[in-house]
Amino acid sequence: MDLRIVPGVSWSANCYLLIDEEQNKLLIIDLGLDGRLTGYSLRKSLEELLGENSEDFEVEVFLTHSHIDHIAGENNLPPFKSLIFSASKIAAEHINSRDHVTLLQQFGGKITFSVEKTYEDGATFSFAGNEFQVLHCPGHTDGSAVLFSPTMQALFSGDVVFKGSIGRMDLPTGNPEEMRQSLKRLLEYDIQHLYSGHGEALHGNVKRNIQRALQLF
Ligand SMILES: [Zn+2]
Repeated sequence: MDLRIVPGVSWSANCYLLIDEEQNKLLIIDLGLDGRLTGYSLRKSLEELLGENSEDFEVEVFLTHSHIDHIAGENNLPPFKSLIFSASKIAAEHINSRDHVTLLQQFGGKITFSVEKTYEDGATFSFAGNEFQVLHCPGHTDGSAVLFSPTMQALFSGDVVFKGSIGRMDLPTGNPEEMRQSLKRLLEYDIQHLYSGHGEALHGNVKRNIQRALQLF
């Protein structure tokens, strides 16, 4: 399995591309902003990764939460063999209704897809030989979820926790007490690699990073 990071341009979220070359499957974690605002950086990475073969790939896009800067980049996606969007149930409700929690209206964003696959807290799946657990971690939004891979010892944390900081809690459905509980929960997992929604990845000292964040409360 190959992991590619597409760093966020401007206030767009980072996107993560996980590719299973043997089975022609692709897992995309977050889409970022509309490609017109990011120079189509996600599209360029997909073209580099897949070349002319995008239509051979079965693709799942997992959205860590419903914010515009994570969900509005669908114009970066080339044609695929199949494409499904997934998220937590609460995030799916926000996205599918394009409600105020998405911030789409506030920033003039548009999306055309619906989230058709939802994950319960604790749901697991495997991708390219790696296990993934979906953990609901509210606090930044009520529908925020992260992906933890025990086999990769990696956390794809969305806007819950970053290297050196945590997600803001002042946007609709943000909740400091829920954030505190979510961070405490993440201390239980053996995370060596933190791949967050914004900023650079952190390798090692992830537990200390989360402990420091908890001192803010
Ligand atoms: Zn966010």
